[in-house]
Amino acid sequence: MTADLDLKDLVRTIPDYPKPGIMFRDITTLLGHANGFRACVERLAAPFTNRRVQAVAGIEARGFILGGAVADRLRCGFVPIRKKGKLPAKAIGEEYELEYGIDVIEVHEDAVSAGEPVLLIDDLIATGGTAEAAVKLLRKLNAEVVGASFVIELTALGGSARLAKLGVQCHSLLTFEGD
Ligand code: AMP
Repeated sequence: MTADLDLKDLVRTIPDYPKPGIMFRDITTLLGHANGFRACVERLAAPFTNRRVQAVAGIEARGFILGGAVADRLRCGFVPIRKKGKLPAKAIGEEYELEYGIDVIEVHEDAVSAGEPVLLIDDLIATGGTAEAAVKLLRKLNAEVVGASFVIELTALGGSARLAKLGVQCHSLLTFEGD
């Protein structure tokens, strides 16, 4: 029922959001489609069903929706990677560059144990800056990042090559050429 569903048709593109020149790839339309959402979760989990994954780490906020569902499917735990100041217990952070300025993402310092195989999930990879910071953050906890999966990859922005340089393989369900 979901095998031949074209997920790209379910992604809505909003030109000039949040600022002129950006083509915003909106996945709320995909998440709101019952078979679309299910196919998305199935396809994100598929490369890892026979691999040892002990936790899925999702990046705030859309990575929580997808990551939580993938963790359930892979029968493992979920680890939230959040924007600075949002986590209640002791956390460690990693800075990354935005177009203007820097941002910080954090994870609880006891969220994963050393050597734990972790799958990273977010909705979209553009420049790969956010995902790179997340990989570095998980590695600070000595986690083994077994892969990074995204619904959408904006191929022109080189995010998957950036992760490859860190030795992390990127899996993307859909690609868009521009931003
Ligand atoms: P980056 O760090 O450049 O790979 O950007 C990835 C993050 O920014 C993801 O969390 C995305 O949700 C968001 N993002 C970047 N560009 C877009 C876009 N064109 N449409 C939707 N979300 C985007």
